[in-house]
Amino acid sequence: MDLGEAMARLLAGDDSESTVIEAAARADPSALRPFHDRLIDAEAWVWPWRPLWVAATEETAARLVAEVDAGAGMSERWLMALGLSRTRTAAAALSRWTKEPPPVAASLYVPIAQYAHEGGWELGTEGIRPLSSLPSYALTPTEADRPLAGCLPLDERCPWCGLALLRLLDVDLDDPGVAALGLAGHGRVVATTCLDCGSYTDVLGEYRPDGTATWSDANTRPGYLPPAGEWDLDLPTERLGLGPLRCTPVEGIAWNAGGSTLGGLPDWIQDADYPSCPRCRTTLYFLAQLTGDDLWGESAEGCHYVFFCADDCRTTAVVYQQS
Ligand SMILES: [Zn+2]
Ligand SMILES: [Zn+2]
Repeated sequence: MDLGEAMARLLAGDDSESTVIEAAARADPSALRPFHDRLIDAEAWVWPWRPLWVAATEETAARLVAEVDAGAGMSERWLMALGLSRTRTAAAALSRWTKEPPPVAASLYVPIAQYAHEGGWELGTEGIRPLSSLPSYALTPTEADRPLAGCLPLDERCPWCGLALLRLLDVDLDDPGVAALGLAGHGRVVATTCLDCGSYTDVLGEYRPDGTATWSDANTRPGYLPPAGEWDLDLPTERLGLGPLRCTPVEGIAWNAGGSTLGGLPDWIQDADYPSCPRCRTTLYFLAQLTGDDLWGESAEGCHYVFFCADDCRTTAVVYQQS
């Protein structure tokens, strides 16, 4: 079955071929553009929605804005699609709605401008402030001693549970090999987490130019943590290095082996969740997703999402999500 047939079924109310649509959208999100008008007309929404809407044009964004202004029943969904579009039209509308809320605003759980996070950006002084790079690289298995990603124990222990802190990501953004990310000038970023506590709360870290990393004093202990020492985890053993450029920012699947990605859009398992920098309070920039399958080398839960402060406060955050 091809995309056209799968979409015809979807528009007729049959979503049984949604995996065909997802695969086509992840491989080439622009292939969905001819269907956006009809999806809006039919009020059709399928999971996962991010690959379907990430290539929406300014014209499609304008239609979505009109739907939200008119108080359409699908307004909350159309806000998600609009955020994914990362268009000037979306930025102008979210800015306007922040001052003049549309009908749907009363039923939203987050500030309306936060729907931009769907597409990896936020409102900035010049409209769109990116929170993620659209180009991305696959992260693939490596035997390297100093891998780009993997669970390498640091000399420091987690102050909450006593497990070894892990160096999860170590990437030199000035390396010409990762130039497509557009992050040259930010130097070497090293992100750390605790595998145990990190499954209960976001873990903040700090790093130094020499590549050392440490726990951040800004971490806030969550209300519940298992008693210290209760977990006796074997650490994941797989190591990941830089692979080829991915075709699209939505190619890497957070649930799968082979889904680990440097750059691109986070393939959120739950809601979009961009942490803030504990030092300067700006929203952190998405750097990588590391899937449980890739870290453990076998079927495993969840995905780790790694962020850093693009204002160079030398802070990182690791967000863990699972289904
Ligand atoms: Zn811990
Ligand atoms: Zn900062």
